[in-house]
Amino acid sequence: MTFKRIFAAAAVLLLWGTAYAQNDSTSRKVFGKESMASSRGTSTPEADTLDTGNPEVKILLFQNHTWRYIKNPDIVTRKKVFSEHWTTNVTNPYRISEESLPESFTLWIVDTLDSYCCPNKTTPSSKYGYRHGRQHTGIDLPYPTGTPVYAAFDGKVRCADYIGGYGNLLVLRHENGLETFYGHCSELKVKVGDWVHAGDVIALGGSTGRSSGPHLHFETRYKGLSFDPLWLIDFQTGTLRHRLFRLKRSWFSPGCRYYQVDDDEDVIAEGDEKDRVAAEEKARQEAAAREAAAQAAMRYHTVRSGDTLYAIARKYGTSVSTLCRLNGIKETTILQVGRRLRVK
Ligand SMILES: [Zn+2]
Repeated sequence: MTFKRIFAAAAVLLLWGTAYAQNDSTSRKVFGKESMASSRGTSTPEADTLDTGNPEVKILLFQNHTWRYIKNPDIVTRKKVFSEHWTTNVTNPYRISEESLPESFTLWIVDTLDSYCCPNKTTPSSKYGYRHGRQHTGIDLPYPTGTPVYAAFDGKVRCADYIGGYGNLLVLRHENGLETFYGHCSELKVKVGDWVHAGDVIALGGSTGRSSGPHLHFETRYKGLSFDPLWLIDFQTGTLRHRLFRLKRSWFSPGCRYYQVDDDEDVIAEGDEKDRVAAEEKARQEAAAREAAAQAAMRYHTVRSGDTLYAIARKYGTSVSTLCRLNGIKETTILQVGRRLRVK
């Protein structure tokens, strides 16, 4: 226990250091492509978790005494993303069409508390898209039966079941709303509701379901809609292509395969800034239009002899206090004949 306390204290100090570094302008370099390499191979089985001063953050200790920060599963799993559209035995609990998504949107795939693990560093044996006239909604990775299947990202098990052509299928939902699918497994090592960390062994490779030989069928989906996993992961190098991922709606079109794009984070961030400025401008124009409409809806009354505020209010279906407010007058103000009063 003493060791753990000392360890936790040291780790918390390091957390401050890490947090401080992020505010530094050089922090982008900290998260260069190198850091997006798969974490598998650098970690050993987990030994324990430790508390930090922040209830949302815990320390995950590995048996080789290395460690990393993780989100506290007890808190992160309370998020709506882990309860809404949460059906455990179907592949697509959302049932939405791609048209309902924005033309493009960004998701954080990993942040300082999330990690990534390549399911298998290999050349895919079958691509995403149409295959023999039938849509293939994922990619196939060579995977000898019994080989460990690793969770690509931290997440919660939504489905761990035998589902038709998928055979033994494991579906993980991640905090950003993405889901990853692992099909044709010979054995599932986790159950629905379990929280897993990137790199955890969640299943063993196999050939169950509609499969002509041992392989892992891997899918990436957002709100039930699949897109080519190659947009996200370069399986040949095992690296994650983006920490901040810009998804385009067109990529959800059936059969749309990965093609090289400018995936520079600065470009994405710049695009986000342009979007933000455009959104502000749109909001400003809408406010101006509302103001103009309100102006157009204004009505006036010209005071005639014998008019009282009460009579005018009744005539226009308003109140004396509203008339006073609209015209900056008091109930006791004497109305001059010929004065124009705003009544709406
Ligand atoms: Zn497949």
